[in-house]
Amino acid sequence: MALTPMMKQYIQIKEKCQDCILFFRLGDFYEMFFDDAEIAAKELELVLTGRDCGLEKRAPMCGIPYHAANSYIGKLVGRGYKVAICEQIEDPSLAKGIVKRDIVKIITPGTYTDSNFLEEGKNNFIMSIFIDNETDLCGLSFADISTGELYCTETKFNLSIIIDEISKFNPSEIIYQDTIDECVINTFKEKFPILYTCFENKFFTDNAENILREQFNNYNKELYTNELFYSVCGLFKYIIETQKSALSHIDSLEYYNIVDYLVIDSNSRRNLELTETIRNNSKKGSLLWVLDKTNTSMGARRLRKWVEQPLVKESKITERLLAVEELIHNIHYHEELKESLKNIYDIERIVGKISCKSVNAKELITLKKSISKIPSIKYLLKEFNSNLIVSMNEKLDDLKDIFSLLEKSINENPPINMKEGNIIKQGFNDEIDKLREAKINGKNWISNLEKNERELTGIKSLKVGYNKVFGYYIEVTKANLHLIPEDRYIRKQTLSNAERFIIPELKKMEEEILGAEDKLIKLEYEIFVSIRESIEKENDRMKKAAKIISELDCLSSLATVALENNYVKPKINESGVIEIKGGRHPVVEKVLKNNSFVENDTYIDNKDDQLLIITGPNMAGKSTYMRQVALITLMAQIGSFVPANTANISICDKIFTRIGASDDLAAGKSTFMVEMCEVANILKNATNRSLVLLDEVGRGTSTFDGLSIAWSIIEYMCSIPRIRCKTLFATHYHELIKLEGEITGVKNYSIAVKNIDGEIVFLRKIVPGGADESYGIEVAKLAGLPNDVVKRAKEILAELESTNDTANINCIAKENKTLLTDKKSDAMTTNEEFNEESKEYTSKEGDLPKQLNILDISKDNLINEIKNIDILNLTLIDGFNKLYDIIKKANSI
Ligand code: ATP
Repeated sequence: MALTPMMKQYIQIKEKCQDCILFFRLGDFYEMFFDDAEIAAKELELVLTGRDCGLEKRAPMCGIPYHAANSYIGKLVGRGYKVAICEQIEDPSLAKGIVKRDIVKIITPGTYTDSNFLEEGKNNFIMSIFIDNETDLCGLSFADISTGELYCTETKFNLSIIIDEISKFNPSEIIYQDTIDECVINTFKEKFPILYTCFENKFFTDNAENILREQFNNYNKELYTNELFYSVCGLFKYIIETQKSALSHIDSLEYYNIVDYLVIDSNSRRNLELTETIRNNSKKGSLLWVLDKTNTSMGARRLRKWVEQPLVKESKITERLLAVEELIHNIHYHEELKESLKNIYDIERIVGKISCKSVNAKELITLKKSISKIPSIKYLLKEFNSNLIVSMNEKLDDLKDIFSLLEKSINENPPINMKEGNIIKQGFNDEIDKLREAKINGKNWISNLEKNERELTGIKSLKVGYNKVFGYYIEVTKANLHLIPEDRYIRKQTLSNAERFIIPELKKMEEEILGAEDKLIKLEYEIFVSIRESIEKENDRMKKAAKIISELDCLSSLATVALENNYVKPKINESGVIEIKGGRHPVVEKVLKNNSFVENDTYIDNKDDQLLIITGPNMAGKSTYMRQVALITLMAQIGSFVPANTANISICDKIFTRIGASDDLAAGKSTFMVEMCEVANILKNATNRSLVLLDEVGRGTSTFDGLSIAWSIIEYMCSIPRIRCKTLFATHYHELIKLEGEITGVKNYSIAVKNIDGEIVFLRKIVPGGADESYGIEVAKLAGLPNDVVKRAKEILAELESTNDTANINCIAKENKTLLTDKKSDAMTTNEEFNEESKEYTSKEGDLPKQLNILDISKDNLINEIKNIDILNLTLIDGFNKLYDIIKKANSI
């Protein structure tokens, strides 16, 4: 049996898009066949039927009406599928044999532009990775087709840097070359379960130079590495392949240098809840939720970027802070500015639609309304003197020419459907005006005809009507049929209680009216396209204006938030000191009722106050405090005012956090393993300009192991000159407070509580000095643990405390003091250097007693082991083995 011709055509087209679900246009439906039909039926809850395809078995099939396709496409793309749209590409009435069909667009998660399904305040990025295994260099690029942004960077290959960049841009799709190590790609896939597409190396490299020169007005071969250009080239080819059209709005490369922004690794982004909460991934409860008071979607997207990419250059941070300050002080003009911004729509996405040729007349009117606000914004900005605002105003193009073109050409209230006419304004085009007149005259002629015919026939109920099948007709009720002039009226249609007729004059006029209408619709559309094309030429100007407006909106948002929440302008320094007085956690203070958040001070530097050990009961507020310090620092580097009474912030290059459980549990690592990997990453990459938060490091293993690890991490962080980073270290190992005074840089703090008649009262106040109790059992009691369990826990605790010998630990701390030598500062970051550095650290002769510290703990363990031997229950051979074991252990101490 052979396939039917239509199925043959289907199979040929399907071969071109194996990895897509093919929407195959048949009349008014998109049909899916075979595996595609089965997937679509399941995902979209459609009825799965079958169709004869020429083979023995019917082809599984399901379909959707073409006009409802968008919502189905949105669902499939949202679930990570690619959808290929296959249309009839010739008029079926002119086709000889089977109608020609072809793929007109491929819609993928990263190239999706339908604004109904995209989040307004969030970019939809597609990413491209190109790694050259020989040079070990790597090019990364990110594009948002809906807004026309394209960012790119280059770096030496480093897995964690790429992971950080992915988490910063949060793309919905990634393309990469087939030469990249599979393990690397699998790591990305585990961490970011989005759509990945692999291409041959040559897809990225072939003809790169020509393509880039043609597309990007600022392409300069000399400026960047080939790896960067290949990554952009691959990305661009993929976009063209899916969109099937040139994209004029992606016309410039925006290069960024990773080190120009605060480095926040992917775990820290999550832990600090910058743009979404850990618990339910919602914006509410995140830092962005507090800071976002923008009035435009463009501003909301830009602010998200600011939060994702805080700055590290002092001049840039100060520039923003001064602008925010001025907006705060000029409340009146700022309020007016906000009013203008409220009326500005998403110019970036409209520009994207203009370039993709999917914009409609209504959206052009929205564009016009938005542009109409620019002059008043420019006028208001004249009232400000800060460098940033002045330069924004200078660069802000009022786009007057585009406004006046739209003003005179497009109707104020055009239909959404572009094939209905009524788009072009009266007076813009003579031909359109004439056709409209002809149409109106014709319609007047018809209403006169109705009047005349009523008089001629004497039938008062006679009416002239219109329908799509018969055109214009005269309708007479059955009761009046005897009155019609049989010689003139030609019968056309019989209804239950009336008859419909035509007369030659009516048909002639109908031709004129319909001809004029057809012509009018066609001409209106043609003129609309020419208007769209002339506006498209100005895409670059519109994009630049949109960017400035979005930045203004961000500054305005930061000013509004600062005013509403009583924030202060931070001082910025590069001396290494972070000093905060009366600091608050920006999110927790908003969530707590009755202004009950307790302010706290912070002083941390790279010298005597480098590593703050924070102890205190469970639930006291240790994590909140540490996060608060990181968030205040990060906010200052965004250019935002901060929740404090005063703040002097030293610019950090990186923020690391090791807090709570992590996603990698799903990737097969244990909690403790994840914790140790994260700590290793921090020790490898932190510098003395970094800020590190470590929360209860070591708690995931036995007490002695955990304590030893925490202890040695503190030593390492305070002694390796490259690291010596500002660190907040929350812990329940109270033994660690002995390190203050023994290790330079370590300072103890605790969060105060009161114990009133056995009931614990949280004061939430951070005070110098360490705590000696965790009150874990009291907190467990508060949480509702059964009384019996609480009572028994107290008994066990008392027993343990009476036998605990902390003398050893004191002794370890004392011995250690001599070890911590001051080494010269140098910035080593690579793996090998890290290992070298570690080797050096552990092999120095003077370091030997450090090993003894750990061994002292082993000695304790050995003594306990001997004490616990149940000699009466040991056989001779077991006793011998035990003795052998003990001697072996003793020898190794
Ligand atoms: P654990 O050791 O059990 O992890 P913790 O000491 O880290 O606890 P947090 O989780 O930081 O405690 O805080 C517990 C709760 O205390 C928070 O959910 C918050 O509501 C409240 N809290 C923390 N800090 C403050 C503060 N400064 N003012 C008012 N309430 C606070």
